[in-house]
Amino acid sequence: MAPIDIDKSLSALTEERETLLHQLSELGADARGELTGDMDYGDAFADAGAATAERTETMGIIENLKVHLDGVIAAIGRIEDGSFGRCTECGKNIGDDRIEYRPTSSKCIDCKSRTSS
Ligand SMILES: [Zn+2]
Repeated sequence: MAPIDIDKSLSALTEERETLLHQLSELGADARGELTGDMDYGDAFADAGAATAERTETMGIIENLKVHLDGVIAAIGRIEDGSFGRCTECGKNIGDDRIEYRPTSSKCIDCKSRTSS
Protein backbone atom coordinates (compact mmCIF):
# COMPACT_ATOMS: atom_id res chain seq x y z
CA MET A 1 0.00 0.00 0.00
CA ALA A 2 1.33 3.43 -0.87
CA PRO A 3 2.01 5.77 2.03
CA ILE A 4 -0.41 8.61 2.65
CA ASP A 5 0.23 11.53 0.36
CA ILE A 6 0.42 14.25 3.01
CA ASP A 7 0.88 17.05 0.50
CA LYS A 8 -2.24 15.99 -1.35
CA SER A 9 -4.22 15.76 1.88
CA LEU A 10 -2.93 19.13 3.04
CA SER A 11 -3.85 20.91 -0.16
CA ALA A 12 -7.27 19.26 -0.18
CA LEU A 13 -7.83 20.32 3.43
CA THR A 14 -6.58 23.85 2.81
CA GLU A 15 -8.90 24.15 -0.16
CA GLU A 16 -11.80 22.85 1.87
CA ARG A 17 -11.03 25.34 4.65
CA GLU A 18 -11.13 28.20 2.14
CA THR A 19 -14.43 26.96 0.72
CA LEU A 20 -15.98 26.67 4.19
CA LEU A 21 -14.75 30.11 5.24
CA HIS A 22 -16.19 31.52 2.04
CA GLN A 23 -19.55 29.85 2.68
CA LEU A 24 -19.57 31.15 6.25
CA SER A 25 -18.84 34.70 5.14
CA GLU A 26 -21.60 34.50 2.54
CA LEU A 27 -23.98 33.62 5.35
CA GLY A 28 -22.70 36.60 7.33
CA ALA A 29 -20.64 34.59 9.83
CA ASP A 30 -16.99 34.71 10.77
CA ALA A 31 -14.53 31.81 11.16
CA ARG A 32 -15.89 31.05 14.64
CA GLY A 33 -19.38 30.61 13.20
CA GLU A 34 -20.65 33.81 14.77
CA LEU A 35 -22.74 36.27 12.87
CA THR A 36 -20.70 39.35 12.08
CA GLY A 37 -23.65 41.66 11.80
CA ASP A 38 -27.36 41.83 11.32
CA MET A 39 -28.37 39.93 8.26
CA ASP A 40 -30.19 42.02 5.72
CA TYR A 41 -33.13 39.87 4.80
CA GLY A 42 -34.77 42.63 2.83
CA ASP A 43 -38.43 43.34 2.43
CA ALA A 44 -39.25 39.70 1.74
CA PHE A 45 -38.70 39.03 5.42
CA ALA A 46 -40.49 42.06 6.79
CA ASP A 47 -42.62 39.57 8.71
CA ALA A 48 -40.71 39.07 11.98
CA GLY A 49 -41.80 35.44 12.26
CA ALA A 50 -40.47 34.58 8.84
CA ALA A 51 -37.23 36.42 9.57
CA THR A 52 -36.79 34.46 12.79
CA ALA A 53 -37.44 31.17 11.00
CA GLU A 54 -34.95 32.09 8.30
CA ARG A 55 -32.41 33.10 10.91
CA THR A 56 -32.82 29.81 12.76
CA GLU A 57 -32.31 27.90 9.53
CA THR A 58 -29.24 29.97 8.69
CA MET A 59 -27.81 29.36 12.17
CA GLY A 60 -28.28 25.63 11.62
CA ILE A 61 -26.38 25.76 8.33
CA ILE A 62 -23.65 27.87 9.94
CA GLU A 63 -23.38 25.37 12.80
CA ASN A 64 -22.89 22.50 10.35
CA LEU A 65 -20.27 24.43 8.40
CA LYS A 66 -18.54 25.32 11.66
CA VAL A 67 -18.38 21.69 12.83
CA HIS A 68 -16.96 20.72 9.45
CA LEU A 69 -14.49 23.61 9.55
CA ASP A 70 -13.31 22.59 13.03
CA GLY A 71 -12.64 19.09 11.71
CA VAL A 72 -10.67 20.46 8.77
CA ILE A 73 -8.62 22.82 10.97
CA ALA A 74 -7.93 20.01 13.44
CA ALA A 75 -6.75 17.77 10.59
CA ILE A 76 -4.42 20.50 9.30
CA GLY A 77 -3.11 20.82 12.87
CA ARG A 78 -2.42 17.08 12.98
CA ILE A 79 -0.50 17.32 9.71
CA GLU A 80 1.58 20.13 11.22
CA ASP A 81 2.34 18.29 14.47
CA GLY A 82 2.97 15.00 12.70
CA SER A 83 0.11 13.01 14.20
CA PHE A 84 -1.93 13.01 11.00
CA GLY A 85 -3.18 9.54 10.08
CA ARG A 86 -3.09 8.26 13.66
CA CYS A 87 -6.12 7.71 15.81
CA THR A 88 -6.56 10.41 18.47
CA GLU A 89 -8.00 7.77 20.82
CA CYS A 90 -5.66 4.79 20.60
CA GLY A 91 -2.78 6.11 18.48
CA LYS A 92 -3.05 3.35 15.90
CA ASN A 93 -2.95 4.04 12.19
CA ILE A 94 -6.35 5.11 10.94
CA GLY A 95 -5.67 3.48 7.58
CA ASP A 96 -4.45 5.04 4.38
CA ASP A 97 -7.62 4.38 2.43
CA ARG A 98 -9.78 5.89 5.12
CA ILE A 99 -7.58 8.96 5.62
CA GLU A 100 -7.33 9.62 1.89
CA TYR A 101 -11.04 9.27 1.43
CA ARG A 102 -11.79 11.44 4.42
CA PRO A 103 -8.76 13.46 5.60
CA THR A 104 -10.74 14.86 8.54
CA SER A 105 -11.00 11.40 10.13
CA SER A 106 -9.51 11.60 13.61
CA LYS A 107 -10.31 8.12 14.86
CA CYS A 108 -9.73 4.61 13.57
CA ILE A 109 -12.78 2.58 12.62
CA ASP A 110 -12.68 0.65 15.91
CA CYS A 111 -12.72 3.77 18.10
CA LYS A 112 -15.19 5.51 15.83
CA SER A 113 -17.69 2.69 16.05
CA ARG A 114 -17.15 2.37 19.78
CA THR A 115 -17.77 6.07 20.51
CA SER A 116 -20.66 6.57 18.09
CA SER A 117 -22.67 3.55 19.09
ZN1 LIG B 1 -8.42 4.08 17.59
